[in-house]
Amino acid sequence: MRHYFQSYLDRYPKQGTLRCSCGGEHALGTKKILLGDGVLEEMPSVFREHYRKDVKIWILSDQNTEKAAAEQCKRILSRFRFSSTVLPAVPRPRTSAEIIGCLCRIAGEYRPDLVLAVGGGTISDIAKMVSLNLAVPNWCVLTAPSVDAYSSGTAALKLKHRHKTEPAQPTEVIFADLGVLEQAPEVLFLSGVGDLLAKYLSFMDWKISALITEEHICEDTARMCLDSARQAMNAVKSLSSARRAAVQSLTDALLLSGLAMQALVSSRPASSAEHTIAHFWELAHTVGNPDLELHGLLVGLSCSILLAGYGEFYKNLRNWEYDLDNRLRILSAEPSWEQTLIPAVEPFREQMRDEMGEHLPGTEVYRTRLENIQKHRGTIIGLSDSLLRELQEAVEALSEISFPFSLSDYRLDVPQALLPMRYIRPLRNRYSSFNLIHEVGAEAQVLEILERRVQSIR
Ligand SMILES: [Zn+2]
Ligand SMILES: [Zn+2]
Repeated sequence: MRHYFQSYLDRYPKQGTLRCSCGGEHALGTKKILLGDGVLEEMPSVFREHYRKDVKIWILSDQNTEKAAAEQCKRILSRFRFSSTVLPAVPRPRTSAEIIGCLCRIAGEYRPDLVLAVGGGTISDIAKMVSLNLAVPNWCVLTAPSVDAYSSGTAALKLKHRHKTEPAQPTEVIFADLGVLEQAPEVLFLSGVGDLLAKYLSFMDWKISALITEEHICEDTARMCLDSARQAMNAVKSLSSARRAAVQSLTDALLLSGLAMQALVSSRPASSAEHTIAHFWELAHTVGNPDLELHGLLVGLSCSILLAGYGEFYKNLRNWEYDLDNRLRILSAEPSWEQTLIPAVEPFREQMRDEMGEHLPGTEVYRTRLENIQKHRGTIIGLSDSLLRELQEAVEALSEISFPFSLSDYRLDVPQALLPMRYIRPLRNRYSSFNLIHEVGAEAQVLEILERRVQSIR
């Protein structure tokens, strides 16, 4: 079976940029991805393809990923020159400026030709930043199908009250060995699947934004990301009979998702309001159970909540009546978001300022959007109907394999869970269903539905 990520990589010329059918130009720094059985054993030959024998490698892992794969990698690379750093497993490593700075000094003293990350999303992100700082390439060995960040061109830096997506050095060569990935803890597998749930919503929101705000969309990239997620969800449904196939399909979809973000230089193909919510929960330290404080799990939980609100809203959109001029008057007279902040979200004011900046829509922008909503109403209803039905099926399939969908699993309380829902628009300058809901005047109703939903899963 041909992997989705391979079909995507094959479109790109070896050097330079792809002139895409969407009218844009995209570039990828990732050159090669190996996914399959025993691909770690191929490392020496892949190294020889790219480097002379005296290449100096700096290997980064943590105590968990050391056992999962790094020890094995070091055995396989015993004929090569390398130095390595193993971070402690506890506290869990974070992609912070302090850790990156410290590792840049350690790795820098060794003067490596290449950084090799062996680990999950955090180790991979840290290594991409060290690689950028030292101006040497980085490769990666995946230890879990837990996130889609491995193949993205960015790293998610954890600042005090916000995530900062920083440009990083894209990973040139990626090894995804099924023997290793299959052994990853179940919770990391579920995290990867949870992150994929977002594909239905991010595809829907991107398409809707293209119709309403005329935002640029790369149809090919968007479609492939959705299709790969669909394939992975199908594989997950038959998990008990074919775990390896599910892990392979999931990893394929996650790798493609990362490549799509790298090519578009934006997380648009993979992330919409559900990610804004998950990031907020994480940064506001609302999750009381550290074992489940994983990006993909939080994304999956927020998708299941949004499903209820979006489902009702889009079902009723056909009959939703509003007077355009009246809506414009109301939208123009609204207080600014800064006046509506409650103390609990105060720490996010700076982030919101950065996001909103100059981007507050004026009356004319609202007029165009409302006209476009009228014009494309049928298309939007058809699109949301089929995608939300698929998402519903996916959520049900994940319930069957014990994905944590209750707030109590996370020790997340109701008010905290609801907190970001009121501030989706200022928290991120990216058009989502929340904007559409706000523009047609259905925000209060949808927030009520979301509240009922959150209460029902407490
Ligand atoms: Zn994600
Ligand atoms: Zn394109």
